[in-house]
Amino acid sequence: MVKKEITSPAKLKKELEEAKAELVSRNKKLKLSVKTEAKKKVDKKKAEAKKKVDKKKAVAKKKAEAKKKVDKKKAEAKKKEEAKKKAEEAKKKEEEAKKKEEEAKRTYEEELEEQLTEDEIKNFAIDKTDMDKLVNRVTEMIASYATNGILQNILWRKLKLSSRDGSRLALKLEKLGNITREKILENGRWTYLLLIKKIPISTISIENAPCLVCPVEGKCSTDGEISPKTCVYIEDWVLAELKTKKRHETN
Ligand code: SF4
Repeated sequence: MVKKEITSPAKLKKELEEAKAELVSRNKKLKLSVKTEAKKKVDKKKAEAKKKVDKKKAVAKKKAEAKKKVDKKKAEAKKKEEAKKKAEEAKKKEEEAKKKEEEAKRTYEEELEEQLTEDEIKNFAIDKTDMDKLVNRVTEMIASYATNGILQNILWRKLKLSSRDGSRLALKLEKLGNITREKILENGRWTYLLLIKKIPISTISIENAPCLVCPVEGKCSTDGEISPKTCVYIEDWVLAELKTKKRHETN
């Protein structure tokens, strides 16, 4: 510290005032500096807080936009679904209307049934054809389709019959009690599924049965030494019948 020589009270007073003024000035500067620092810190904190808020806002905005997009897609999908549903309903209605229209249509067979008497149907015959044989053959063919049945047009094609004769034959077979006919809609047209009801006994196969001409028929019994269970004639006959039946089916 520099020692100053005090030469008079006035000078001392002046010195003191100067020192006081400097102190006040320093103090002011210090206070200002502290305030500035504090303000800077507060401003920094505020800026950081604002930044965080802005960031949150940006994330929220992004989320809102993404949600908007999802909602839009959902709305579009819903619209599409509704349009599809409407189209399906319209198609269904159209199909139902078509079906009703078809159902209202009468088949050729239904007309025949009205026009012909029962006897006319039962006595239906095709020129130069053994009708008993044909009835048996067709019935056996229908029987081979068991519970699945066969569409009449397919059967007539196999037998090379016209649909006129085929329809009359189907009616005859039904009246004879050999088959049943089920009216079904096939490819937009009414037709009949033919199903077996009673399998005919083929007179031809009975004629060929080995037992009718068997020399040991009197000694034959199910539990005897001579028996249908071990009979080779019966076995051959059954195999031959099966082959004949298969041949009819493929024809
Ligand atoms: S089953 Fe054979 S052995 Fe018996 S009667 Fe018939 S053919 Fe003759």
